[in-house]
Amino acid sequence: MKVIEPISSHFYFGGCDTVQLAKKYGTPLYVMSEDYICERCKEIREDFLKKYENTKAVYASKAFLTMEMCRIIEREGIGIDVVSGGELYTALKAGFPMEKVIFHGNNKTLEEIEMAVKNNVGRIVVDNLYELELLNSVAQAFGKKMKILFRITPGVDSHTHKYISTGQVDSKFGIPLKGNIINEAIKKAIDSSNIELMGFHFHVGSQLFDNSSHIKAVKILVKLMNDMKESIGFITKELNTGGGFGIYYFEGDESKPLRYFTDAIMETIKEECHKYDLLMPTVIIEPGRWLVGEAGITLYTVGSIKEIPNVRTYVGIDGGMPDNPRPALYGAKYEVIVANKMNQEKNSLVTVAGKCCESGDILRYDLKVPKLEAGDILIFKSTGAYNYSMASNYNKIPRPAVVMVSNGIDRLIVKRETYEYLLRNEL
Ligand SMILES: *Cc1c(COP(=O)(O)O)cnc(C)c1O
Repeated sequence: MKVIEPISSHFYFGGCDTVQLAKKYGTPLYVMSEDYICERCKEIREDFLKKYENTKAVYASKAFLTMEMCRIIEREGIGIDVVSGGELYTALKAGFPMEKVIFHGNNKTLEEIEMAVKNNVGRIVVDNLYELELLNSVAQAFGKKMKILFRITPGVDSHTHKYISTGQVDSKFGIPLKGNIINEAIKKAIDSSNIELMGFHFHVGSQLFDNSSHIKAVKILVKLMNDMKESIGFITKELNTGGGFGIYYFEGDESKPLRYFTDAIMETIKEECHKYDLLMPTVIIEPGRWLVGEAGITLYTVGSIKEIPNVRTYVGIDGGMPDNPRPALYGAKYEVIVANKMNQEKNSLVTVAGKCCESGDILRYDLKVPKLEAGDILIFKSTGAYNYSMASNYNKIPRPAVVMVSNGIDRLIVKRETYEYLLRNEL
């Protein structure tokens, strides 16, 4: 093997020179570190699965899903959450074990429900009574009994962006705990011949740095477990506490280790179950962003540089909102570095503009960088979650390739889209 001397002015990721990656694969380019993903999986095993018995972890695959990701997740001993037929199809094609799949969604279509039943998906998280009826009739038609959880809206406000807060009373997700709806739902599930109700699920929101929303929601859910035991005689076997654990994007983000959340969740469930004299349910967590967010970076090439005297300097890059809609969607902020100028002083101030025909397509305002010129490689950090998976073809821009790096070795896991590919469905 050829020993490569690291070039100190270049940024290395997963042991690979990112400037070389940009040359080899072109830009924009998503680069994912397998080593980082595996470290996070190890943390889940050590600090949650092994530490507490009767627990399960599933990766919320909407954060970043490819067949290779499914293979990594399976190898790491974790399950997968899907929220659509397309995500389920990806897991199926990757040969992911269906009993370790949890199917979410607030409006699953008949086709998606049929797909889930046909393929024996492990759990379906039922969002509403309409879905319960639909699922029961499909399961009946296939002669199967499907294990479900009910998604509950705990009525907890998590302190995060409105678009990623999901646990408040006014939410499109789940069954509210107002009135008698949940009692009726449970009775109906128990009476449904082709459904086995295992328990409840909640997901309070995303990118959280504080465990108080999880603690509040757990207390509400264990109380619900007790109420349903007393009123209907229903025994909860499983409690799925969702994901939402925050990661580092930008200064001010105080990301915490997983155990900060999971210890609090487990202690609260134990205490509350003890209080009501309930058996501990199986506890499930569903990290998405936390598992992959910091594992990914995006590489761009600098093109035009436009200085508007006394106003601002725009640096045009070859990507933008099609490969990363989060700045436009949530005002998300990323750390940015110049991959080929790591040891130069940062003495200019620029704004990084995407190439789309939208003034809102700005990926980063007021960035301090070394003097830039066309051909420089910019790196946006922490783009592993909700970038590739949220990417679009706006302005008919082909989606970037995805490269997986591990221990100094790079491998292409998703090819760059071509122009022909963009027209493949056009008649
Ligand atoms: C999105 C989602 C998650 C994961 O959220 P993260 O913030 O990425 O951890 C978990 N569970 C459900 C039901 C979700 O919709």
